[in-house]
Amino acid sequence: MLDRIHGNVYDHHMPIMVLDQTVASQIAAGEVVERPASVVKELVENSLDAGSTRIEVETRGGGIELIRVGDDGSGIGRNELILAFDRYATSKLSDIDDLQSIATFGFRGEALPSITVVARVDVVTFAVGETGGEALTLDQGQVIERRPVARSQGTTVTVRGLFRTVPARLKFLKSTATENSHIARVVSQYALAFPEVSFSLTIDGRKVATTPGGRRLIDGVVAVYGADIAARMLVLDGAEATGGEITVTGMVSPPELTRANRDYLNFFVNRRAIGSRLLAWSVEQAYHGMLMTGRHPVAIIDITLPPSEIDVNVHPTKAEVKFRNERAVFAAVQKAVRSRLTDLPPATNWQPRVLPIPGSSERRAGYALGRRAASSLAVPLWPTPPPSKTAAATPQEPLVSLPALRVIGQTAASYIVAEGPDGVYLIDQHAAHERILFEQISQQRAERKLEVQGLLKPASLEVTPAQDEILKTDHARLAEFGFTIEPFGERNYLVRAIPALLVGENWCETLWELLDSGGSGSAADWTERATIILACHGAVRAGKALSDDEMRQLIRDLESTELARTCPHGRPTVLHISSWQLEREFRRLP
Ligand code: ADP
Ligand code: MG
Repeated sequence: MLDRIHGNVYDHHMPIMVLDQTVASQIAAGEVVERPASVVKELVENSLDAGSTRIEVETRGGGIELIRVGDDGSGIGRNELILAFDRYATSKLSDIDDLQSIATFGFRGEALPSITVVARVDVVTFAVGETGGEALTLDQGQVIERRPVARSQGTTVTVRGLFRTVPARLKFLKSTATENSHIARVVSQYALAFPEVSFSLTIDGRKVATTPGGRRLIDGVVAVYGADIAARMLVLDGAEATGGEITVTGMVSPPELTRANRDYLNFFVNRRAIGSRLLAWSVEQAYHGMLMTGRHPVAIIDITLPPSEIDVNVHPTKAEVKFRNERAVFAAVQKAVRSRLTDLPPATNWQPRVLPIPGSSERRAGYALGRRAASSLAVPLWPTPPPSKTAAATPQEPLVSLPALRVIGQTAASYIVAEGPDGVYLIDQHAAHERILFEQISQQRAERKLEVQGLLKPASLEVTPAQDEILKTDHARLAEFGFTIEPFGERNYLVRAIPALLVGENWCETLWELLDSGGSGSAADWTERATIILACHGAVRAGKALSDDEMRQLIRDLESTELARTCPHGRPTVLHISSWQLEREFRRLP
């Protein structure tokens, strides 16, 4: 039925009909239950609403086979057990005015009924004040069985065979590893928002994360991001609160602790995890001038404000909120973060810190390792662009290759100034080196000749639960790139070898970035992304003084690349000011 909607409507006339109950409820369920992680989110929120102090989450097969959330909360009373699975049945809201002051996660009464129409659900619960526990089994919205059982106070909901009856939905799911990492991220977020609750997450029988439930945010950060990040985070103590209505607490990373994507930005409004591009933007504004482009901070931002100041009822998944006074909220967040950052001693503010290499003390010689032996492949093109009417010093037409160049010097410790057959060339040393490494890595990988460096002393690598899920499955393809990694305890690994071009670099960062970019997309996409990341991390930085020899070698290597004019991210490597442009600018032309 659903499939036919996308068919050619002119082939057969379809009369208007009211959808039958099952189809209608399956469509509605899709709004709440998008993927396995949504089920985890709804069940965890119910456990939190029930005042639990311990929440155990277990999943199998990316959440498709099994999702189980157990808690020690208030439980569901016997009389209410069946009712809880009715649509719009909720104990958290009675009239529309209550919507003004929602203090619980739930209030729409949609989660449990939505889950039961797309899966088989078992609930076991024992409520305060009851004489015994109760078990209920439902399948696709129908009650199958109900019986008394023994259990301690609380509720356990088990969801099996998710989307078994909705193949259209099943088709949209990503790999098990990706679904697992979404699940890990949901649980991580709540662990950060509720440090006083003890969470545990078990995926396919492996304990992935546990938090002590000791009230301290730092314990949550240790559990989710590891001890190293936790130790470096800066605390926002709420002292910057403006007007008394909005309080901003949490933790932010110092400017030198960054990540390659925004997955490490966590926002909670009255402890509800929300996504907000505007909030992300206001946090990054607070770091203005402190971050390298493409890098993002780690942040846990707790915003507390009167419930009447927000509307959480904008989307069935409640992943967004509307603020009554948006500007005031963004200003408060930005101010809290900015003032914490400007408190730092100035020296640590601006320089991206290059960490010492764990497990190895070798520095690499020169700017590049594994450079190509000969650049005889280079075919100088000697471009002579026709004099154009456009302004001087604008980048030229993107020509693919590069003429032979003579190095004149370096400027701003970032650009090589060179002379060519037709004018002056400015080469961005980092972008150029990225291009060179990108092509070298691609070729060496294809020929299985990628240079690998064994570490004298294996180094330990700590990963987040979400990264852990990716690492489990990306293990083999990371090995193709020269990383030898072995499991070593909970979310810890031993790294025995790394690609040679990363010797002397902070390759832990490289690995984290590779893991953060894993999961989605085709294998070819991943390989290309990974090659770009490796090239970027291995490339000489802007700001590094280069010797004449190093500059000459870099240019020779660039000449021999196939796409010399752009780095793998698409930025130009070379700016060209032609002789004609020079003459025109100096008014030598008639
Ligand atoms: P909502 O959370 O929006 O009220 P749900 O469908 O998620 O709707 O849950 C329906 C009702 O079932 C809740 O209002 C609550 O009374 C009860 N309930 C669900 N899960 C739990 C739980 N883990 N502990 C106690 N009560 C629960
Ligand atoms: Mg709910």
